[in-house]
Amino acid sequence: MWSGKTFAIIGAGQSGGWTAKTLRDEGFEGRIILFGDEPYPPYERPPLSKEVLLGDQPVESTYLWPEDSYDEWNVEMRLDTRVASISPADHGLTLANGETVAYDKLMIATGGRARPLPVAGADLDGVHYLRAISDTVAIRAGIAAAISGGSKIFVVGGGWIGLEVAAAARKQGADVTLVEALDQLCGRALTPEFAARLLKIHLDHGVDIRLNTSIDHFEGDGALARAVLSDGETIDCATAVIGIGLIANTELAADAGLETDNGIVVDEFGRSSDPDIFAAGDVTNHPNELLGRRIRLESWENAQNQAIAAAKAMLDKGEAYSEVPWFWSDQYDVNIQLVGLPEDCDQTILRGDPDAPEFIEFYLKDGRIDGAAAMNNPRDLRFTKRLIQTQKVVDPAQLADPSVKLQTILKG
Ligand SMILES: Cc1cc2nc3c(=O)[nH]c(=O)nc-3n(C[C@H](O)[C@H](O)[C@H](O)COP(=O)(O)OP(=O)(O)OC[C@H]3O[C@@H](n4cnc5c(N)ncnc54)[C@H](O)[C@@H]3O)c2cc1C
Repeated sequence: MWSGKTFAIIGAGQSGGWTAKTLRDEGFEGRIILFGDEPYPPYERPPLSKEVLLGDQPVESTYLWPEDSYDEWNVEMRLDTRVASISPADHGLTLANGETVAYDKLMIATGGRARPLPVAGADLDGVHYLRAISDTVAIRAGIAAAISGGSKIFVVGGGWIGLEVAAAARKQGADVTLVEALDQLCGRALTPEFAARLLKIHLDHGVDIRLNTSIDHFEGDGALARAVLSDGETIDCATAVIGIGLIANTELAADAGLETDNGIVVDEFGRSSDPDIFAAGDVTNHPNELLGRRIRLESWENAQNQAIAAAKAMLDKGEAYSEVPWFWSDQYDVNIQLVGLPEDCDQTILRGDPDAPEFIEFYLKDGRIDGAAAMNNPRDLRFTKRLIQTQKVVDPAQLADPSVKLQTILKG
């Protein structure tokens, strides 16, 4: 099928890898070229701030598939190769080395990059962001040096990545100071009550967390020596990690004239404003039928499943992609999971004791569950996902009562 055609994929990350595999799984017999500007084959990023940063798993454990799989599938992998521009009118790509490559259909899976911190000294050696394998390797070395040298790990940002780094460093025995500009952790994702519990967990583990505090600048002679906080305090440190969000890599698409708006604008099949160009993963702004609005997600599940759906659409086997967003985080022995993307909720229902090891919060809008956040309670969260999918009106008293099983509410 489609023999003689060339399908190109820009970005050898999670979505790019799944696109290549799905094309072959679905019987595509033409040429597949996968361009990635990193030196690694497609890999999953969640372990970079968890198992790999802790040293529990090697870097290679993150690879989607063994390296020789791509030869087996006859996928041409061009690593360390940056695509510099797309010319939709000619169906052509220009690489950073000047080479040009023609495509029949194109997938853009360029993900995102860490948002840079605009303060003096952020370019000193020892100041890191965490997006790629190379970052994790460098931060791990910084943690080891901090432990042996008795210095601190300094973290900017009390979001998921900052907190996972703090937990991984603390668990290995490093002293950690974390600053968060807002008055709570994970301000965009958690209620103040849930965030307060998470704060307590980190404080109990000995992380020095400063809310309502930001970094003014870093100091050092070539290499980081200290961080100066907004309140004037100075923290001596040789390793800092900045986790303040992501910028979607939309420039290639925008320069090619594709529609972009906080991501590459695609339809439910992953098709962009050019019928032969698709996009998937963190870089897309896509419609979600269940939520009734367009969203851009930074999530492992979306990176995989949207790529699978879009790869099928490249072969004209379109299946509309719409899933309830799901996300997780692991910190110490705590597993946090979130479903939905609640907006304008009018009621929060707590099930369980917020001081107990496990509990779940539901966020309701017009009597229906719009989202939930669970601590150490993946089972209830799974059923909540199904309750969100059904969009049924629920009884808040039943939800709040742990003796009423969620399966019963689902069936009722
Ligand atoms: C440290 C960390 C922890 C995370 N933890 C979780 C978690 O616990 N749960 C969860 O759900 N999600 C988590 N995520 C998010 C998840 O990993 C991302 O949503 C996912 O990686 C997105 O996949 P993607 O393929 O869209 O983009 P990416 O994985 O970013 O891949 C894009 C690739 O394209 C390359 N590229 C960009 N431009 C070009 C170009 N012009 N030419 C060639 N190549 C290019 C990039 O270098 C990159 O390799 C985490 C992310 C990070 C960084």
